[in-house]
Amino acid sequence: MAGDVERRAYAVLGIVQGVGFRPFVHALATRLDLRGFVANRGGRVEIEVEGSPEALARFEQALSASAPPLARLESITARVVPVRGDVRFEVAPSRRDGAAAPVFPPDAATCGPCLAELFDPHGRRYRYPFITCTACGPRLTVVTGSPYDRERTTMAAFAMCAACRAEYEDPADRRFHAETIACAACGPSLRFTGPGGLSVRGDPIVETARALGAGGIVAVKGLGGFHLACAADDPAAVRELRRRKHRDDKPFAVMVGSIERARELCEVSPAEAALLEGPAAPIVLLRIRSTEGIDAAGIAPHAARLGLFLPYTPVHHLLLAARDGRPMVLTSGNLSDEPIATGNTEALTRLGGVADAFLLHDRAIHVRCDDSVVRQARGEPILVRRSRGYAPSMIALPFACDEPILAVGGQLKNTFAMGHRGHAILSHYIGDLDDLLALDAFERDLRLYEELFDAAPRIVAHDLHPDYASTRLALARPGVRTVGVQHHHAHLAACLAEHGVEGPAIGIIWDGAGWGPDGTVWGGEFLVGDRRGVRRAGHFRGVRLPGGDAAVREPWRMALAYLLDAGQDAGRALARIPAARRAAVERLLGTGFNSPVTSSVGRLFDAVAALCAAVDGVTFEGQAAMRLEALAEGGPPAPDPYPFSIQRGSGAGMFEVDTRPLVAAVEADCRAGAPAGVIAGRFHAGLARIARAAAVELRDQTGISRVACSGGVFLNGILTGAVQTALVNEGFQVYCHHMVSPGDGGLCLGQLAVAATAEA
Ligand code: ZN
Ligand code: ZN
Ligand code: FE
Repeated sequence: MAGDVERRAYAVLGIVQGVGFRPFVHALATRLDLRGFVANRGGRVEIEVEGSPEALARFEQALSASAPPLARLESITARVVPVRGDVRFEVAPSRRDGAAAPVFPPDAATCGPCLAELFDPHGRRYRYPFITCTACGPRLTVVTGSPYDRERTTMAAFAMCAACRAEYEDPADRRFHAETIACAACGPSLRFTGPGGLSVRGDPIVETARALGAGGIVAVKGLGGFHLACAADDPAAVRELRRRKHRDDKPFAVMVGSIERARELCEVSPAEAALLEGPAAPIVLLRIRSTEGIDAAGIAPHAARLGLFLPYTPVHHLLLAARDGRPMVLTSGNLSDEPIATGNTEALTRLGGVADAFLLHDRAIHVRCDDSVVRQARGEPILVRRSRGYAPSMIALPFACDEPILAVGGQLKNTFAMGHRGHAILSHYIGDLDDLLALDAFERDLRLYEELFDAAPRIVAHDLHPDYASTRLALARPGVRTVGVQHHHAHLAACLAEHGVEGPAIGIIWDGAGWGPDGTVWGGEFLVGDRRGVRRAGHFRGVRLPGGDAAVREPWRMALAYLLDAGQDAGRALARIPAARRAAVERLLGTGFNSPVTSSVGRLFDAVAALCAAVDGVTFEGQAAMRLEALAEGGPPAPDPYPFSIQRGSGAGMFEVDTRPLVAAVEADCRAGAPAGVIAGRFHAGLARIARAAAVELRDQTGISRVACSGGVFLNGILTGAVQTALVNEGFQVYCHHMVSPGDGGLCLGQLAVAATAEA
């Protein structure tokens, strides 16, 4: 009966393009006998359906309840429109318009149905290493422009065969409009080569597995760049990889064949399993349980945790299957800290001295994208590195942000952000901008994001540090208004923005270093305010950084600085350091030459690590802190916190956390021969006490009971857990980072939030 027919129009916002949403809607509408259409329009999916009211109700319910796994629905608006008498349901042509911000999905791990096909000997994609569908495969790493169509991906080089074309055009197929669709007849292929790039005959997967089994190091081209692989149970290979890569101490990640194998090696909570098995497939830092069958001492020296991940591309699945599931080290394909290689020729050149062989493919990587790294603390994730599988993704902002804003981030572990139409789009990990390759990637990827998200920023936010490459890029941009944002203010604003909270809040902002307006290096800060403005309410006691950057590379220098500051006998505590070197550093401390004052908690970690674990030199950022964390994690429970005192009125009403009692107690423990695990535990507990005391002080002053914890020190899960527990027990409402890195990778979001205020 015609009277029983209604027509409704829906606009769906969120990540709904490139994720198989239209075939899902098509299948749903067809099943419910509804007529109408679905179409990509601008950044939205528009649907119009007509049929019985019951069918429409079921359609509406299923639309959000059973959407495809990669889809992220932000809003669905429905309205009743006049019936048009359509006779079928169809997928209408796409159109671009400016009504909504386009959303682009991140790369996703091989999905269940594709995995089943990969190992199905009767399927036409049996063992095809580039199997993907609308629910999985490369996205950001292959896109070259907007809108997202095959022609604007690196798959444009491959013409679809008739069989793939038929699937691509069939709305009922799960590969309907899968832009990365391919098969052995038409798509990319693998090849195995020696160090010179000459192809070796035979099955590339079998050859790679054989090379790994024989102790070789193979450069494997992946989704967002190259990995260097070796057998995880081969200490000689692991040692050789470290030597050739010039990577002395930094832990390697290990890819394991299954969640069961992960559970044998490490403790895996349900939340950690969900991270491992989710479409982002990050490296998850897990508590080590048993190191049987892997060379843990070589892979992660001194660590309490191991970075594990599961296969996330068909190539990984095939490789692990060919190795009978034996785990492999899979570390970034670079030398020490430079960006990972992405191109075949580039890899053959740059990794020629590291890899014995190469597993190459001919699908170009357009955007370099590192593996993401996650850990859990107090049952919540901390994104140590937010990149592949997470970027680009959007965060809804709790404030207006209509004018497009670009936030360029910091210098180290750079990411950038674009604010547009009420959302922040956070980029993948760019890396350290003192590297020219990273700097190039920054500029190129920024242009790509501007195109993908259809934004031409007129406001550009940056750090106040004049020597950050990101600051210089921002200031050199023509025709924009620039907004300088203090480093720790940005950390605080990032934490509040992530949680959709509008201030004011107490900020506990602890990191390695950030430009302070008083000419000192900040890094142990207590702020009060929000994105609109902050007051520095307190800070850690300043000590000199003897020799600047040299003090960061040699933590014993910080130990010396803190010992002298606390009136301790440095000669006794650091007797292992040659007297002449100690004297030279003492002179720097005395004169202040090239030795700025810092309140950095990161440097306090360095000093304590040098004192209790003789961490005198480090080869990567955060190494000393990681060591202390691992020691504390392996130490006895409920440690007795170290003492400290809070000195009030150190000028401008600020308080100062006096670290001298703490340093003296550390020294006394060391002298008494206390185990390093005990000292590390007492130190973490002491910091949690400091956080609590300072927060209570500021709550009494201001009445504010909301606390935001940010800065790279909060990458430390033990500390984050201890601080959170201490504050929650004291009745505070505590915000820590879960979706954005607490380190400088999260700065861009805070800069964006501050600049959005400056706009108004
Ligand atoms: Zn798939
Ligand atoms: Zn094909
Ligand atoms: Fe920082």
